[in-house]
Amino acid sequence: MEAVTEKLGQGAFSLELNDDQRDVREWVHGFAANVVRPAAAEWDEREETPWPLIQEAAKIGLYSFEALAQFYADETGLLLPIVNEELFWGDAGIGMSIMGTTLAVAAIFSSGTGEQFGEWVPQCYGTPDDPQVASFCVSEPDAGSDVSSLRTRARYDEAKDEWVLNGQKAWATNGGIANVHVIIASVEPELKARGQASFVIPPGTPGLTMGTKVKKHGLRASHTADVFLDDVRVPGRCLLGGKEKLDERLARTREGTGSKRQDAMQTFEATRPTVGAQAIGIARAAYEYSLQYAQDRKQFGKPIIENQAIAFALADMAMEIDAARLLVWRAAWMGRTGRKFEHAEGSMSKLKAGEVAVWATERAIQILGGNGYTREFPVERMHRDAKIYTIFEGTSEIQRLVISRAISGMMIR
Ligand SMILES: Cc1cc2nc3c(=O)[nH]c(=O)nc-3n(C[C@H](O)[C@H](O)[C@H](O)COP(=O)(O)OP(=O)(O)OC[C@H]3O[C@@H](n4cnc5c(N)ncnc54)[C@H](O)[C@@H]3O)c2cc1C
Repeated sequence: MEAVTEKLGQGAFSLELNDDQRDVREWVHGFAANVVRPAAAEWDEREETPWPLIQEAAKIGLYSFEALAQFYADETGLLLPIVNEELFWGDAGIGMSIMGTTLAVAAIFSSGTGEQFGEWVPQCYGTPDDPQVASFCVSEPDAGSDVSSLRTRARYDEAKDEWVLNGQKAWATNGGIANVHVIIASVEPELKARGQASFVIPPGTPGLTMGTKVKKHGLRASHTADVFLDDVRVPGRCLLGGKEKLDERLARTREGTGSKRQDAMQTFEATRPTVGAQAIGIARAAYEYSLQYAQDRKQFGKPIIENQAIAFALADMAMEIDAARLLVWRAAWMGRTGRKFEHAEGSMSKLKAGEVAVWATERAIQILGGNGYTREFPVERMHRDAKIYTIFEGTSEIQRLVISRAISGMMIR
């Protein structure tokens, strides 16, 4: 979309994608259609990380830091959501196995120094011959929505210039199988979220172990597990951003002069549209499948789409998916062009997209009738996959909390 770029004159507005965006979309769509989708049912049943598909993605250059940098470089901000929508249109479980690493990379990018970025990001991806994944671990058994109450502690051992981490992380995507883990831990618990810092745990560090792999409702090709940290010692250079910066931030917070919620909120608002785009990919896949099915399936001597009940459901699905995408694109554009999220537009986009995905995939099952409820047809998997989008990266309730606080300026609870 060349909307509101310098290329257009004052007052001009366009929602048309440019050539680069269209080319990348077609490229990712081809991979999703020809490689990802045919493998979706198998990896969902196996409930295993689809390493061969990650490798395929690495070989064509889609699973790489260079690709992520190219998507991010798009000045409109739309390329990242476009890529995510296409990939997750292919399959969400495999999509998450390919995209899960970007959460850790984004954390290194936003908190780390250039040097840290150069050291750790290549290790997050590995090589096309030996691909690796990375894991971003915030949530804990007693700290999900309330991330200010993390119990994982990081203590500095000044004599050795090492950080020592202890605690338990929960539901970590790629947890325990990752080459690089990024762990959010509390350095000064009394400062709550402002007393937390991000640490890279290098490959093979003793003391980091995987808990039981979680068996899930959906997104089953994506690995989710608890991560235990038992006296995990990492060099001082593993603190993202460095100790001097952390010490300054902690001092400012103790004095009450530190910036409060705004920085973190801006970061979350900027990443949420990408997650929303994944949900839209699932919703669109279910919509397209059920539209075709409704045209082919005959009952009472005519295609079921000739009944308004079915046709109107499909009309609503098309409309809701487009509405969600527009919210996602708006928020992605705002994030990339540095607009302030005055009304929590990033949260709006993720909330809407997640709820549309759950609703649209449920409608798709209804349109397929008995077939929709079976594993012979893909829409039941899409419905299972969609549900996580009202839970992770901030539940729907938390998004509503963020939006209602932003629009009212009041501390809604
Ligand atoms: C498949 C999967 C992958 C995940 N991947 C990762 C990952 O890679 N890294 C990571 O760190 N985490 C990950 N998570 C964890 C995820 O982010 C959390 O599950 C999520 O943040 C919700 O936390 P919780 O499960 O503890 O729910 P809780 O916080 O216990 O919430 C339970 C319910 O209470 C509601 N609720 C809580 N507080 C409020 C409130 N103040 N007002 C209104 N309602 C409220 C919630 O909305 C929800 O409906 C993953 C989870 C899953 C299932």
